[in-house]
Amino acid sequence: MREMETLSNRLASGAVLLVDGATGTMLLERGLEPGKAPESFTLSHPEVLEDIARQYVSAGADIVGTNTFGASPMRLELYGLADRAEELNREAVATVRRAAAGRAYVAGSVGPSGAMLTPHGDTDPRDVYENFRSQMQWLADAGVDCVCVETMLDLTEATLAVQAAKDVSPHTPVTATMTFDETPRGFFTVMGVSVEAAAAGLADAGADAVGSNCGSGIEVMIRIAEEFRRVSDLPIIIQPNAGLPEIEGGKAVYSETPEFTADRARLLIDAGVRIIGGCCGTTPDHTRAVREMVNEHQGAA
Ligand SMILES: [Zn+2]
Repeated sequence: MREMETLSNRLASGAVLLVDGATGTMLLERGLEPGKAPESFTLSHPEVLEDIARQYVSAGADIVGTNTFGASPMRLELYGLADRAEELNREAVATVRRAAAGRAYVAGSVGPSGAMLTPHGDTDPRDVYENFRSQMQWLADAGVDCVCVETMLDLTEATLAVQAAKDVSPHTPVTATMTFDETPRGFFTVMGVSVEAAAAGLADAGADAVGSNCGSGIEVMIRIAEEFRRVSDLPIIIQPNAGLPEIEGGKAVYSETPEFTADRARLLIDAGVRIIGGCCGTTPDHTRAVREMVNEHQGAA
């Protein structure tokens, strides 16, 4: 395995880095039953996950995520899998590490706990912190190169996840992204968090890059990125969906093609985005198209 420059150095240099795209849709195509925890695939079908990760590495992703979005103990409890939590995190990292083979960074994906925190719900934030701390410890022990806290809606929950990651492993870079909707008053998460509040809160918690994933296609994401740029000095990370899903024959179909995404991703870079990835509906073909654009862009710069 060749020595890779650290991700922190790459970010500090101002390089544009690519994160992989969706895996959920691909898992459904390859046998995941709807309603089952995607994380269960880590133990039942590691070869499928390794293959998907390999496709993203071949397509030119610099950073590939683990199948651990829902692998915090609280969230796994909803599927009766809490007692497998450590194993699920460890194996998911090992799987992506094999696929990355020293050519890409391994990112531990961490999504919401599934619990509603006080004052909106009745879950104690201290329990949510412990929940994330356990997962962050397993991911760190398994040797992730960075942590991606993503699809967050509640700022308290997001900051607890970032703090837990930093408490466990202070030098491991953490990216933090929230999902925003457009309202007449601007962009807010469904829990009422503005871009400005998100940028400030996540930075205070220790995030190394802040931004948005999921919920919007790339054109809306360009505007969200511009708003982050206005209020934050941190590197910005954006992971758009391939448009909004339309249901055709009981299946979600996404309309933004790899060519369209790559063309618009140019504007993300112009808006100051340094980490570009994909969310729902994106494929290795999207990554490949964006890779070609970024290579041209950086060659020309
Ligand atoms: Zn998504």
